[in-house]
Order: sequence, then C-alpha cells, then structure tokens
Amino acid sequence: MEPVSLDFLGELRRTHTCGVLRAADEGKTVVLMGWVHRRRDHGGVIFVDLRDRDGITQVVVHEDVDPAVHSRAEAVRPEYVIAVEGQVAPRGPAALNPNLATGQIEVVASKIWILNESRTPPFPMEEQVDVSEDVRLKYRYVDLRRPHMQRNIILRSKITFAVRESLNAQGFLEIETPFMTRSTPEGARDYLVPSRVQPGSFYALPQSPQIFKQLLMVAGFEKYFQIVRCFRDEDLRADRQPEFTQIDLEMSFPQQERIFEVIEPLMERVCEVAGYKVSAPFPRMTYAQAIESYGSDKPDRRIPPMHGVADLLPELAHTGLPLVAICIPGTGVPTRKERDEFKAFGQERGLRVYDDPKRLERDFPGAMGQVRERTGAGENDLLVLATWGGEPKGHRPEETVYLACGQLRLHCAQKFNDRHKLLDPKNFQFLWVVDFPMFEWDEEDNRWNAAHHPFTSVHDEDLEKLTADPARCRAKSYDLVLNGVELGSGSIRIHRRDVQSKVFAALGMSDEEARRRFFWLLDGLEYGAPPHGGIALGLDRLVMILAGETSIRDVIPFPKTARGTDLMCDAPAPVPERQLKELGIAFRSPGK
Ligand code: ASP
Repeated sequence: MEPVSLDFLGELRRTHTCGVLRAADEGKTVVLMGWVHRRRDHGGVIFVDLRDRDGITQVVVHEDVDPAVHSRAEAVRPEYVIAVEGQVAPRGPAALNPNLATGQIEVVASKIWILNESRTPPFPMEEQVDVSEDVRLKYRYVDLRRPHMQRNIILRSKITFAVRESLNAQGFLEIETPFMTRSTPEGARDYLVPSRVQPGSFYALPQSPQIFKQLLMVAGFEKYFQIVRCFRDEDLRADRQPEFTQIDLEMSFPQQERIFEVIEPLMERVCEVAGYKVSAPFPRMTYAQAIESYGSDKPDRRIPPMHGVADLLPELAHTGLPLVAICIPGTGVPTRKERDEFKAFGQERGLRVYDDPKRLERDFPGAMGQVRERTGAGENDLLVLATWGGEPKGHRPEETVYLACGQLRLHCAQKFNDRHKLLDPKNFQFLWVVDFPMFEWDEEDNRWNAAHHPFTSVHDEDLEKLTADPARCRAKSYDLVLNGVELGSGSIRIHRRDVQSKVFAALGMSDEEARRRFFWLLDGLEYGAPPHGGIALGLDRLVMILAGETSIRDVIPFPKTARGTDLMCDAPAPVPERQLKELGIAFRSPGK
C-alpha cells in the first residue's frame, strides 16, 4: 500500500528541491518530492521529469536495478505526486540538457513512493499549449502549477517583499484599515455588505483606503503604507478587476517632490528584483505638456512625441485648433491600403487626417521641409498630419484634438511595431505626470467632477479659478506612468477645512451633502490635521509589466472574468432563502 502520510520517511527528509542539483552533487543520496511533469517509458528504463516550484529534475528508473521500483514508475501518470530517493549521477555527454538548470545530472531512483494520484489534467503543463482562459480559470490550481504562472506569482511575492523592505527602510509603518466601512470617494460603485444585526444598513467595501490614510496622518503616524485590496464595482475592461491590489501610502509634511523621492528608489528596487535596471530620477512632465506632446495623460515615451505645426501650415489647421504632426520612425513608406486604414481610424475619432506627405510636399514644399526638420521625419518614417474635422468640442477643445491625435499616434505605432520595434516591453520608461486639471466635465450629469478625488489640493495660484475658471484650475496631483500605462496616482491633500469647503462648493456639493458623505474626515480636519499627501500604485499592473504579461489576470492567483465571475468557485452565487431572511433582504427580480 502507498503511504498516506510522510511518516514512512522516518528520519529521512526531503533533501533538495527539483531545481538545485548540479554536477558538484554527484554521488549524493537525495530525496525529492514533486509532481510528475512527464514520463517517458523506454522499456527497461523509465525517465520521469519531476517538477516542483523550483524546477525540474530528471529521475531515471532502471528495471534491472529493482523491478519493484520500476513497476511503480510504470504506474505513475502526469501530475501524480511522488517522492523519490536516489543517487545523483552525471548525465552522458549526449544526454546533457543545457535548457534545464539541473540538466547536467539525473537522479537514479532506488525508491519511489506515490504520495497521491491525479486525474488526467484538464490541459497539459507545457507552456506553449494554447488553453482557453475559461478552462484555465476553472482549474486554476492546475493552471497555477504551470511553470510560467509559478514564475509570475513568485515574482509577485518578491515584488511585494521588496516594497515592504524599501518602505520599511524609509520609515513607513504598515498599518491596516478596515474592509467593512462606509463609501469612499473614488467615484465608482460600491460593493455592499448587508448588516445582520442592523437590518437595512450596509457596509461598503473600500474603493481605496483614502479617508483612513488621511486620518492616520491626522492621528500622527506621519508615514503609512499598506499593500491593500480595493473594491470597485465598475464595468470591467481588460485590465480591470473588481478587486485589485494597491501599494498605498501617505505621509505628513511632504511636498510633491518628497513623495517622488520615496517612490523612485522603490521602483528601482522593484525592477531590480525583476531583473531590470532603471535609474531615477524619472523625468517630470506637466499634464499640459503630456497632452500637447503625446496626446495622452499617460505618455508612452518609447515612441517620439508629436509636434504642433499650425504655425508652419496655417492653411491646413482648423481655425484656432492645433495641427499636429505625428512621426513614427522606421516604419518604411506605408502602402495606400495602410494609409487608408489609419486615416479611417483618425476620422472615426473626429480628425481630419493628411496621410499623404508626398502630396503635401508638392503643394507646400517650403513648409513641409520645415515640418520634416521639426519632427525629424526622414524618408523611411511615417509622417501624418492631423487637425480637428468638425466643430470644436469640449471645455478644453484643443485637448480634444490632442487626445484624438494621441490615439492615432499609438494606433500607428502599434500597427507598424513589427517594423520599427520601438514598443519593446523590456524598455522601461518611467515618467511623472504632474499638475493635472482639478476638474473633469461630466457630460452625462452636466457638471464638474473631481479629476482625482475631492480631497486633492489646488495650486495656490489657481485657488480663485475654483469657481471662475474650473476648466483651467490645476491640482497638486500626479501620476506615475510606465510605458503608456498609468501605474498610480496621488496628490497633496487639502488639510484645511475651509479650503475643503470651497472645493466641495466648486463641485456643486452643498455642505450638507459633503457632511453626509464624508463627515468623519471633515471632522478630523478640524483637529490639527497636518499637511499631508500620498499616492497609490497598482500592484497588479506593475507585476504584469515586469513579468512581461499583457493581462493582469496572469499575475493574480485567483482572478475574475470580465463579467466578475470566479469560474473556479462559481461566485457570485445565489444564497439560501434563510440567509436572506436573516439579513432582512428580499430579492426583487429585475424589471419589477
Ligand atoms: N486613493 C487614490 C486612488 O485610489 C490614490 C491616492 O490619492 O493616494 O486612486
């Protein structure tokens, strides 16, 4: 009978993992435990690739050494869990495997124990095999066992550890904040938890620890951080999850640059852990510059910026609006069909697109020479000009044009990436974007919303614009951007109650409403709140980029689908009537 516990080992222990044995270990008697990655039966000899989280070691079983051990090896199947005792032996020259860290040796088995059997796995463990994500998520525990998922989750662990080390060394305290709380100000829908003891009342899961961390500053802790789950009930996009993890921090008495000084060494360390070198300081760019030069508040600086050329070709520019030159080096001359495609892309976003530089050069030879000079566009590079195609739109109409051009720029860059290869995922270009607008116009509700959150400070010189010119009022807020991805946002907060009232007023929020929603923070601000500020970085996105993945689901152990379902445990799920009754909840079917 096979053992049901590890007691059979007696004094013997698992001596090594499957990733560590080398030629120098030759002759050692070892005990390995792990999963059967592959088994090859060559008649009198069976090879078992034994895998654990550390690697793979080849085990050989010779029939003529011990037929009983051989027949046990015959019985094992993929993903069986086994223990092997044996001796480390060098491989013959023909059998060396340079692709495997343990490829110089094998373990000649003298004993094998089957610790557990496995049903045939729902998909093979090989990395190259294409498996539908739904099946992977349903059998996540098997999926996570695959070497590349193990690498991702191990990297995640290393990164979170590096974050703790760096922030601890910088004097930050790790402090927890509640999950069962009241609504927080991040602007998404809340997940609610009904209270059984107070029927009709609900906790909200935090969209972020924003208010708590500000109150920890009021409480005098000075430097706080937390690696924390946040919950937002939003329509899910590819890189969103209903629950996600932030590296959240807050400090007292900082100026913006002080926050950057905390984050930059943190990012250097985190990249180092992932095997990359980046060097601080990271460039800083104002929001206005980012929009004008990259048509985005999260510029991807691996591709060169855009250039305004309305001064050179006033004939082409939409009155008063920008005329933008987009240059992507190294694309070669695009075909007519390619031009038609990106032209249509730009037109769909409201632009008038000049896709044929040859023609412009015929019509405006002198000016186009200057355009080429300004953009650096050579014969082999893509050069497109674009302006607005219709009536000016929005409260910052020039921004509308830049944003559409920015989309066109990225579209073209992606379209021709196999030629210019600029979008190298291992070229890490960090950037601070600063001075975001304080407000965003909400088309649906016809009012101004806080662009970050309503506790964000305004630039002192913009204070009077709060009501006079909200569109041009700048906030003391900043984003950390990496390769076109927003890694996180933060701000210097409002620490004075009177200023906070003004901002609420500018947001069209009466003092009563503000009190109803955030009274405990507002009260806190009246008891000696120090100047404070902070930031939160998305851990999932950070790990995704450093792991070279394109989906955050590949760096989250148990993620949800785009519909918010956990396919493994089938959550969310209906609950028994009795549970609803206890909570005083009756379900009304939609439409009633
Ligand atoms: N609480 C903010 C967020 O989740 C971050 C911050 O302002 O620190 O985006």
